[in-house]
Amino acid sequence: MKYIGAHVSTAGGLHNAPKNAHNIGAKAFALFTKNQRQWKAAPLSEATINAFKKACQTYGFLPEFILPHDSYLINLGHPEKEGLQKSREAFVDEMQRCEQLGLSMLNFHPGSHLNKISVSECLKRIGESVNIALENSRGVTAVIENTAGQGSNLGYTFEQIAEILFYIEDKSRAGVCIDTCHAYSAGYDLLTPEGYRETFRQLDAVIGKKYLRGIHLNDSKKDFGSHVDRHERIGEGTLGPEVFLRMMKDPLLDEIPIILETPDENHWAEEISLLYSWV
Ligand SMILES: [Zn+2]
Ligand SMILES: [Zn+2]
Repeated sequence: MKYIGAHVSTAGGLHNAPKNAHNIGAKAFALFTKNQRQWKAAPLSEATINAFKKACQTYGFLPEFILPHDSYLINLGHPEKEGLQKSREAFVDEMQRCEQLGLSMLNFHPGSHLNKISVSECLKRIGESVNIALENSRGVTAVIENTAGQGSNLGYTFEQIAEILFYIEDKSRAGVCIDTCHAYSAGYDLLTPEGYRETFRQLDAVIGKKYLRGIHLNDSKKDFGSHVDRHERIGEGTLGPEVFLRMMKDPLLDEIPIILETPDENHWAEEISLLYSWV
């Protein structure tokens, strides 16, 4: 079964996310558990936690189909001591928030070397940052998202993700999320049937498909291999509809959250029903 949804708003409180997801016909959703553009957030109150859990129950969302996303400010591979420390603290806080909310995953962008340390040093730091977060939380899996490789962002090849996984001690709480826009921009050909098969063959060979915990389903505004991260509505970008049609028939995507991060939220309901019509 396919669990398709979107990264929904939490305006007015976290408990609104399940309702917003339900209203667009979603069976899965993503959310920020705090303002994604700020370092600090007030601790979650008992009332907030209970209201969120109750709303998830009311609308029938189980934790395995909810994929929270961490703050954009966090850089777990930060080259400098202060930035790294700040990022690690913020990430631990986010993992603990997920734990408090009864959630089982936290999706994050690996990190950037900012041209100050080597790629391998940065990947090692990211792995160590995840270890710290896992030691300071329970029951939450850290889910590494592949990137487009824009700027000095790492995690744009399956090999880089595998290297981060190598450093993570508790691999039972590590996972991977594949963003289709990022993969295509990074040079993974999802467009042709052969390229698609080869991409997922490589995912299995290099990382292991058992680590796949979620999908970000986005078309791309930019060309194949551009390394630019610009999402487009499903079927309207350089990927086009066939890729998504193929994905809706792929059993690899069964039983994991498939999340839209496409530009216009007014179209999510339409996009979700279109995708379901292709399953
Ligand atoms: Zn994404
Ligand atoms: Zn993106």
